[in-house]
Amino acid sequence: MAGRASGAPRMVRGSVVTHRRRCGKPTCRCAGGQELHESTVLSYSERGRTRFVMLPPGEVAVVRAAVERYRAAQAKLDAQAEAGRAALIERINADRGTR
Ligand SMILES: [Zn+2]
Repeated sequence: MAGRASGAPRMVRGSVVTHRRRCGKPTCRCAGGQELHESTVLSYSERGRTRFVMLPPGEVAVVRAAVERYRAAQAKLDAQAEAGRAALIERINADRGTR
């Protein structure tokens, strides 16, 4: 039995979403379709397909935090890459002007 948080990844790509549906157990309260079963999943895309992985309750908070860290890191990376492109274009235009 692996420790829950011990192997938690620092970053996870995807989003944590709550699904409401029948879980499939005929004896469950959700079977009637009135009171649907809630499950928290990690939704992610892989090779163009959306996939889900069920999150045990003990994993939800750590996965949410890891998803947030990924979003923040990605936003920062995107900003750097945009600045890089702007600087490149500026340099190319300046070179053209002095030739
Ligand atoms: Zn159920």
